[in-house]
Amino acid sequence: MTSQDGPEKHQGRTRPAAGPAEDGTGPGGEDGLRRFARIWSRTVYPATQTSLTRAELEDFLHPLAVRMGEALHAYPFSPAPGREVGEVLVNQAHCTSPDALPHVLGVIESYLVLYAGTPRGLGVDEARSRCARLQHALAAGFTLAVRERTLAEQEALSRAALAAQTAVEEALHASETRFRAVFKDATLGIGIADMNGRLRDANGALARMFGHSEEEMRRRNINDWVHPDDAPDVWRLHRELAAGRRDHFRVEKPYQRPDGTVLWTNLTVSLLRDADGEPRYQLALMEDITERRLLHLRLRYEATHDELTGLPNRTLFAERLDRILAPGNGVARFGLCYLDIDGFKTVNDSLGHAVGDQLLVAVGERLQSCTTAPAHLVARIGGDEFAVLMSDPQGAEEITGMARALLAALATPVSLDGRELSVRASIGIVEGAAGQLEPAEVLRSADITMYRAKDAGGSRYELADPDSEARAIDRHSLTNRLPAALERDEFFLEYQPLIRMSDGRVDGAEALVRWKHPVHGRLGPDRFIPLAEHTGLIVPLGRWVLEQAVAQSCAWAGGQPLRVNVNLSPRQLHHPDLVPDTVAVLESAGVAPSSLCLEVTESALISADEDELKPLWQLAELGVDIALDDFGTGYSNLANLRRLPATTLKLDRSFTQGLQRHPADPVDLTFVEGIVSLAHALGLAVTVEGVETESQADQLRDLGCDTAQGWYYARPSSPGEFAKDWVPAG
Ligand code: C2E
Ligand code: CA
Ligand code: CA
Repeated sequence: MTSQDGPEKHQGRTRPAAGPAEDGTGPGGEDGLRRFARIWSRTVYPATQTSLTRAELEDFLHPLAVRMGEALHAYPFSPAPGREVGEVLVNQAHCTSPDALPHVLGVIESYLVLYAGTPRGLGVDEARSRCARLQHALAAGFTLAVRERTLAEQEALSRAALAAQTAVEEALHASETRFRAVFKDATLGIGIADMNGRLRDANGALARMFGHSEEEMRRRNINDWVHPDDAPDVWRLHRELAAGRRDHFRVEKPYQRPDGTVLWTNLTVSLLRDADGEPRYQLALMEDITERRLLHLRLRYEATHDELTGLPNRTLFAERLDRILAPGNGVARFGLCYLDIDGFKTVNDSLGHAVGDQLLVAVGERLQSCTTAPAHLVARIGGDEFAVLMSDPQGAEEITGMARALLAALATPVSLDGRELSVRASIGIVEGAAGQLEPAEVLRSADITMYRAKDAGGSRYELADPDSEARAIDRHSLTNRLPAALERDEFFLEYQPLIRMSDGRVDGAEALVRWKHPVHGRLGPDRFIPLAEHTGLIVPLGRWVLEQAVAQSCAWAGGQPLRVNVNLSPRQLHHPDLVPDTVAVLESAGVAPSSLCLEVTESALISADEDELKPLWQLAELGVDIALDDFGTGYSNLANLRRLPATTLKLDRSFTQGLQRHPADPVDLTFVEGIVSLAHALGLAVTVEGVETESQADQLRDLGCDTAQGWYYARPSSPGEFAKDWVPAG
């Protein structure tokens, strides 16, 4: 094999499309991909069986790197080249060792986007997602090629075994010299034993497999080689053969080598009879499959375990659940704790994905520490969801005990990145007899129950209960209905006044969206905004809210329009049309930008880089107000506030609640006081949320807050109600 094969033909094609540098020197140019190929070759070289030198391997990988780069930049995007590269690695670079794949994927993960450049017009997240899809395709191509190769090898060996066997039989009856030649030079291990099991002869290949000399092999008896992992019927098959009742059998059998390691073989044993047809010798043909078996185990392990936490993944969990629930499997009952971390998104958004990942690893370890029983499986289902599956629990108490243990294990703060984070989680418990529910039903029930625990405030467990499930709202059906809901005008807005604390007059209104669901009735935004955010429907929905709210502000206008606050989701923030759409809405309503305030959560902004903040700065420069919503719930560095185009901080409701207690929570008091003075020093106004009592209102006014919002003044209401109470007639 030379580097002329295969991938070379792609080299003449176009260079990777526009990266940051098009002169071919920076990332994204030829040089970048050459460097990428160098790193790649260094990483995989030890894991290949190639006859190339390291430098030659680099030359071989360079066109593949170019291909991956092109694929990353292609419009439309397709992961298919990843698959082809995976195949080429196996078939042409002989990258077949079990270690190679994780190394290859690791290099691509860390360096492809870096050296091929972020495709023009795509965000970093999108480039990363393309890179991930290319990795998946590569892994699929790689695995398939390894499997095909293994099959081909197996076939060749079987053919050789058959040839050897016929040759041996012929030889025994005919030419001794010819037999010797086959026997001696075969790459397959061959041994001949008499009917008592004493080894009469062994070839060099067999001796090498066992790490013995040929001499020593001849002193052994095959009955010495019983292994604890022998398939149950190996020795029965063998007895039948020895008794002349069968002529051959074929099994996978392990042997213990003298150095303690295990040799796995494909073993074919044939009976050789003498001229009268009486059993005379047994002939064993042995193929060493240790490596291949390791590769299979490794690939299987990778397919069934989560890379980040090392825990079993959703695939393995689903297999186990299927097995436990299948009727007639010997399991009587099952228990499932389905766990989701509360507020994980905030950690991820405000502290970054690297810290989020570390937190998940720590959570995985804590959960794992709650159980050592082999009947319990701790798995990471995906994102921040984990599960503990128990077969044959000792009654419901063992399962609720497990849920309590899981919550307690998470409660001790995790120390990450110099901070102490305490982790709260919500658990849905499903318990029942095996053989009655389908896996999908169990999962749905667990999911609904876990959400019930979240709705009840989180940091707790709930037990599945058919009654509440019948009433429960299935996230999936809600998600499916969202697009139609927008077309059918099922959404509507309520408005809640913002009150100026100095004189108690109205200073604006926050628009809050609701859904009039044909079956479930009125649904609050917490039920569907996350789903809309997830599916992307938030973009058209958000635009609709903006149009409605701006139009409403004009409709109320007595003299000058009342200022409206509109909430923006992170996804809208990253949408390229945010600025032009907002400007168009304001222009067509004829409203000044200063009549609009966009509310963005602190956590959505804190991880944003300069580019991501640009649209907000543009809007702020036009005169649109920007408020930092739910302030104080993220983990932001206050010094960061300067980077943000905010004009207002909206202090989260939880601080107002802290003041409610008697005496007021001193931590909250100090925090609010500190925030207010810092905000004022930075020229920001402070709005407080969730004011429910007069005493809260008084305290917050004394602390210097500028504006307030809450039930004490008014609940959110329809535009008509709102106008009656808050818009001066005229
Ligand atoms: P938010 O922006 O923090 O909105 C304030 C929430 O607090 C509203 O809940 C409001 O009804 C509630 N609230 C107001 N005063 C009080 C009070 O005195 N006590 C208590 N306990 N609660 C009070 P709501 O309407 O359920 O909205 C929840 C969240 O949904 C909002 O939180 C906001 O993040 C999101 N949301 C609402 N409308 C929209 C929208 O049009 N677009 C987007 N992207 N998100 C929205
Ligand atoms: Ca808000
Ligand atoms: Ca808020």
